Amino acid sequence: MKSSNWLGRTSQMWKVWLLVGSLLLIFAFGLTDYIARFHGLLATVGGALFLVFTVPWMFYGIRCRACGGRPFARLMHQFDGRQWPAIYFSMQRCPLCGDDAFHKEA
Ligand SMILES: [Zn+2]
Repeated sequence: MKSSNWLGRTSQMWKVWLLVGSLLLIFAFGLTDYIARFHGLLATVGGALFLVFTVPWMFYGIRCRACGGRPFARLMHQFDGRQWPAIYFSMQRCPLCGDDAFHKEA
């Protein structure tokens, strides 16, 4: 079965789910912080972890097999932050080289 988007076809969907998971984790950090009244300590730690690991991961973790480029950086320039998650999930081809990943390389 062919996946309906470029990330799935390039077997990189798990990377996005990992990112979504880490976002939920950070949200849980913030929520715990709020409930337990840690005065922003956990939220700060969560935010720092996000900046240190998740953002570079998004930038460098997802790559195009065809051109070796990193589509996220390009998308960041083309669209604002509210649009790119939807664009990422519906992406049909590499925004850098146009590879649609339908023809798998051996
Ligand atoms: Zn490409």
